[in-house]
Amino acid sequence: MVPFRPVPLVLHDTATKRKRPFEPVTPGHAGLYSCGPTVYSEPHLGHARGPVVFDVLRSWLEHQGYRVRLVTNVTDVGHLTDDADEGEDKLAKRAALERLEPMEVAEKYFWAYFDAMARLNVRRPSVVPRATGHIPEQIELVEDLIAAGLAYERDGSVYFDVGAWSDYGELSGRDPSELVEGTRVEVRGDKKDPRDFALWKRAEPDHLMRWRSPWGEGFPGWHLECSVMSTKYLGDEFDVHGGGLDLIFPHHECELAQARGVGKAFARTWMHWNMMTLDGEKMSKSKGHFVTLAELFEAFEPAVVRFHLLRSHYRSVSEFGEEALLGSRQGLHRLREAYVALVDAADGAEPEPGFADEARAAFAAAMDDDLGTPQAIAALFGLAKEAHRRLPSATPGQAADAAEAFETLLGTVLGVELEGGAQADAGARERLAGLAELVLEQREAARARRDFATADALRDRMTALGIDVEDTPTGPRVRIR
Ligand SMILES: [Zn+2]
Repeated sequence: MVPFRPVPLVLHDTATKRKRPFEPVTPGHAGLYSCGPTVYSEPHLGHARGPVVFDVLRSWLEHQGYRVRLVTNVTDVGHLTDDADEGEDKLAKRAALERLEPMEVAEKYFWAYFDAMARLNVRRPSVVPRATGHIPEQIELVEDLIAAGLAYERDGSVYFDVGAWSDYGELSGRDPSELVEGTRVEVRGDKKDPRDFALWKRAEPDHLMRWRSPWGEGFPGWHLECSVMSTKYLGDEFDVHGGGLDLIFPHHECELAQARGVGKAFARTWMHWNMMTLDGEKMSKSKGHFVTLAELFEAFEPAVVRFHLLRSHYRSVSEFGEEALLGSRQGLHRLREAYVALVDAADGAEPEPGFADEARAAFAAAMDDDLGTPQAIAALFGLAKEAHRRLPSATPGQAADAAEAFETLLGTVLGVELEGGAQADAGARERLAGLAELVLEQREAARARRDFATADALRDRMTALGIDVEDTPTGPRVRIR
């Protein structure tokens, strides 16, 4: 472990709209919270960006010697109601095993999500709190908000009284008059103000997930769990809260109001990542214009997907068309080739100072500037180029040093696997070389029996396949392009 040193890291903060230095609440520790998935469908591409960004932030802080606690919640409550077509009576009559058990759905997609994340080499968060596991704490916060005069009960539901909280809108910077639009809180009972949002909802008779509360049987509002679970595991004030841009309002605005309303300072920095597009169009599940991760992994190695995600800055739109991914595959291949060549040249030697320090410094400067992964990757391409230039004269120790830089920066910090693809490629190339050798023998045999037409045809076919045959004084030589 690297000894701890304060880092010059700056992160863009949504609340203040500027980059601010990373100054942790507890020196040497970093507390990160990101809003996780709602587990009721197959994990898709939109699920991947945030976890990859936060995984890299975590690794970068650990690389500086920080102890990081990353908390990512799983929403397994509130969205899982019974199928509308199924009447309440029918449902009640069906055997317990036949009916839709919401936790069964949540469990299935919980694991599907984490399996997909594991394939993307996203490490498991330090804590993965589930909303259903924190009902008493959520009820407690609602009680505290009522006691603070910021919430009121109507007909078994409890609402946050936006009019009583003058800071509402501080995160999103929205004008209070705008806030009525786009509020997607279900209207149930009579709210005092259309901006008010539900903290607790009364369960209708057919609602499957329900808990007892001081206000009757119901379930928590969607925003509540994050205020509760982030502060439970990270403290009343913590370092970074992350989420997709679409979560700023209303979700994060509401989270903030709920926490500040009971006197908790909450997140110091708010990080929001941008959306992804598919062939230039915003991905939308409702329009069927999206890709599940399982589909994507059939076409592309997960490491390529991860590398591709990091090639655009988290605050920029990331384009996920096939062409863009092919470009990333090729780029990663180049880095892996450089790494393999360095490992070969190092031949097990101990690292000694060489030509990698400039790339290390450029990588660090890029990462410290609001997690500039595209520039950090550019530094690695610079190192690959330098390796190509320097390898013929470098000592094994210098090659080992540059290989170590790839392992640490690309492998550990960015979490992109260096092997796998490269090794598979190496195996494939070996077989290809063997095959080329075999064809070459046939060509030589044709030439020996003066069948030049066949010999030339074989050579032309090989050239067309990207295998050049060069006739040298010592015999033919093969080069695979
Ligand atoms: Zn949240």
